[in-house]
Amino acid sequence: MDPLISVIIPLYNEEAILPLLYQRLTDVLTAVGEPYEILLVNDGSTDGTPVLSYELANRDPHITAINLSRNFGHQIAITAGLDYSRGEAVITMDGDLQDPPEVIPELMRRWRESYEVVYAIRINRPGETWFKKATAHVFYRVLRWFSQMDIPIDTGDFRLMSRKVVAQLKTLRERSRFLRGLSRWVGFKQIGVPYERAPRCVGSTKFSFFRMFHFALDGVISFSLFPLRISVYCGLAVSILCFGCLLYALYARFILHRTVEGWTSLMVILLGVGGVILINLGILGEYVGRIYEETKRRPLYIVDTLFSLEHPLPFVKSAPAPWELRQFTS
Ligand code: UDP
Ligand code: MG
Repeated sequence: MDPLISVIIPLYNEEAILPLLYQRLTDVLTAVGEPYEILLVNDGSTDGTPVLSYELANRDPHITAINLSRNFGHQIAITAGLDYSRGEAVITMDGDLQDPPEVIPELMRRWRESYEVVYAIRINRPGETWFKKATAHVFYRVLRWFSQMDIPIDTGDFRLMSRKVVAQLKTLRERSRFLRGLSRWVGFKQIGVPYERAPRCVGSTKFSFFRMFHFALDGVISFSLFPLRISVYCGLAVSILCFGCLLYALYARFILHRTVEGWTSLMVILLGVGGVILINLGILGEYVGRIYEETKRRPLYIVDTLFSLEHPLPFVKSAPAPWELRQFTS
């Protein structure tokens, strides 16, 4: 029987938390009482995560353990899970229990009310640094403003999507994936469900400041051309400023008969203009780099092994990896 619910969990070095996660998730899903599957996507962990998820899959037919061939990143790991999911309601959530499985029945309730995307909104995030909270707060608002799209504020990747939405999402194969935006972009009837984000159970965040920064950049760039326009505005502003300086310099020279002091003013203008040019080149580079990445048309991820007692091999048209079902060998 095909499962009604699919739960997708990306895992990167989460061996310490996996047994607890499995327990809590299984308790919740059993209470829901519908057929379900759990897809554990191991995103190139270097610890015992793949072996543990294999053991779970070997014991429990609800579990499918998918091993990617290396670390491809959180968003791509979720994408791999989406490609293999079969449920009518597909739930994506983090593996560190920051997204409590107990919220799932509420997501399901909204889905049954015929919402196609039900995203969980964090009303608070204990256990995270003030810096992360502050940057996240600013980021979601800037992104909304830049993208001119109604991307819900303060949502992560804890969300339920209907089969219809997942089918559309699977056709979007862009590399710089920002699923929070993409799941909004596809449209359909959407609604948010507030929840209290728990602190990370064990271990530490897998996102360094730079990784977070790049992820934020992906979000902005894949949904907006506005940064390119900023370059135009910057250029205009600097040109106008320089023109004003030029007029003043000529006025001083020919009317007041004195020249503007040299070194300081020159240096200020030179460094200022240089800085603006470099920043704008950088912005342009971000877009060009993404064009380059897309033109290579590499697959988004490569599956090493996929193991489940029950999962029939799904036909995934857009993912060109070799799809044979193999026994996991660690
Ligand atoms: N994760 C992943 N690949 C990565 C980094 C993280 O699959 O390269 C997983 C990680 O195991 C966790 C989820 O993505 O299940 C969210 O990661 P994390 O909790 O570190 O992010 P944060 O909550 O700090 O934003
Ligand atoms: Mg986390």
